[in-house]
Amino acid sequence: MNKLGIHSFVWTGSSVQKDLETAIQVSSDLGYKLIEFPRLNTKVFDVAALARLLQSRDMGVAVTMGLPPDGDISSEDLEKIARGEALLIEGVAVARDLGAKKLGGILFSMHGKYQSLPTAAGWRNSVDVIRRVAERAKQADVTINLEIVNRFETNLLNTTAQGLKFIEDTGSDNVFLHLDTFHMNIEEASPADAIRVAGRKLGYFHIGESYRGYLGSGTIDFDAAFDALLDIGYTDYLTFESFSSEVVDKDLSITCGIWRDTWKDNVALARHARAFIEERFASAERRRQVTRTV
Ligand code: MN
Repeated sequence: MNKLGIHSFVWTGSSVQKDLETAIQVSSDLGYKLIEFPRLNTKVFDVAALARLLQSRDMGVAVTMGLPPDGDISSEDLEKIARGEALLIEGVAVARDLGAKKLGGILFSMHGKYQSLPTAAGWRNSVDVIRRVAERAKQADVTINLEIVNRFETNLLNTTAQGLKFIEDTGSDNVFLHLDTFHMNIEEASPADAIRVAGRKLGYFHIGESYRGYLGSGTIDFDAAFDALLDIGYTDYLTFESFSSEVVDKDLSITCGIWRDTWKDNVALARHARAFIEERFASAERRRQVTRTV
């Protein structure tokens, strides 16, 4: 497993240049090959300088984001839809300029708890925007990856099956699924089967424990997930995602409900996560090989 990524919120919730540089350096020192940056505020850091640092460290980068309430492209409010589309286009540009090949996250709706049911018109509005954004992203050599998240963080796409239907409706070959063990554990009857159903449409993958803390200390069945990833031939990045109130970003911490410390020492956490994923993934590969050997 040499395509291991880490979410920058293990290190920092800020968009300050110095903090982002430290996050890149620590991740690289600990053997990670990609860093994921969410919700980047491009006004407070130098994209070109970060891109150079990433390159000098031979580090990949992924950008993720969620739409704000006033930029909800799954709404029926034309102003909100236009604002959301502009934010997504900006996200594609930042991803491109940083050297990222993937834009992921809750790109298709507001990121947060809805107080209303999804509507058919809202679905169509979201599909239309994603289709257009995906076209632009393709020119920038960036893929669009829709993160399927739990019911408290969107009302539109909570399962792989819904995500596949959405992708089909866009008619685009540049839209993929971004799956996450934490969210699948809440919404899917069988998370491993959901991975198999995603198949070749899986574009990006988050590894998170059931309570978002130390891997292996919760209830996620990582063996089943890794078996399924091998079954579908997924060889792209696996990105470790963990949140604690030790690292706070006002918006994301509240949206994701991060109210307490699940860890304090992020270096120990990241070191453990890498060893855990590599060991479990290697075991899954061994299982697969043994099963297929006469
Ligand atoms: Mn995630």
